[in-house]
Amino acid sequence: MTDAGDRRRAREALIRVIEEEVRQTEVYTGRSHLDLRVLNALEEVPRERFVPEYEVDSAYANVPLPIGYRQTISQPYIVALMTDLLEPRLSDTVLEIGTGSGYQAAVLSLLVDRVYSVEVVAELADQARERLSALGYGNVEVRQSDGNLGWPEHGPYDSIIVTAGARDVPDALLEQLKPGGRLVIPVDANAHQVLKLIRKDEAGGLHSQDILPVAFVPLVEPPPG
Ligand code: SAH
Repeated sequence: MTDAGDRRRAREALIRVIEEEVRQTEVYTGRSHLDLRVLNALEEVPRERFVPEYEVDSAYANVPLPIGYRQTISQPYIVALMTDLLEPRLSDTVLEIGTGSGYQAAVLSLLVDRVYSVEVVAELADQARERLSALGYGNVEVRQSDGNLGWPEHGPYDSIIVTAGARDVPDALLEQLKPGGRLVIPVDANAHQVLKLIRKDEAGGLHSQDILPVAFVPLVEPPPG
């Protein structure tokens, strides 16, 4: 993949592949297509800048890729689907747990007002912060800490996205979600993982919906203290 034209064509082709996978998974997700704004955001973000040098040629394949520290950048289809499930609005403030490469945060940053992203691995947090700033994603803030606790200082959030598989939905995240807000999170279920969409109604009631079987790296639970 040598020039900007090649990369643009590769991104366009990736969007077609995502649209096809969305159609194929409609029976699970109930969605036959995604919001055009979401697809446009994926088409805009240069995924090749979020993967290691030796993976650049695979940057526009619809697959997860290793990013070091035994972590991965998610499959583009999953990034698109999870972003769509948040129903992002331009005025939203969003919390992400699991910054990883920063790719999901970059996609979101084009669709909402502010993105706060928490990453537990210090090196990944530092790299993502530098990368996002170098690429001009100025409305994203990254910090290194345990995402099980959320980021209370900037909450409550219009929506929250967790990009690592949790054993249970962390209470702190439910607390930091606004009434009317949406939380998208992969949760363990009988040796599998299922992507859940949890909506908080205006009275604070929670409504959970299983969307799709998924396979995320685990949301770690650092030892107390
Ligand atoms: N959203 C990322 C992919 C995330 S992979 C991207 O677009 O590239 C999952 C990430 O969650 C990993 O980087 C992992 O280190 C991080 N993670 C795991 N447990 C965590 C925790 N308790 N708090 C914050 N981040 C965590």
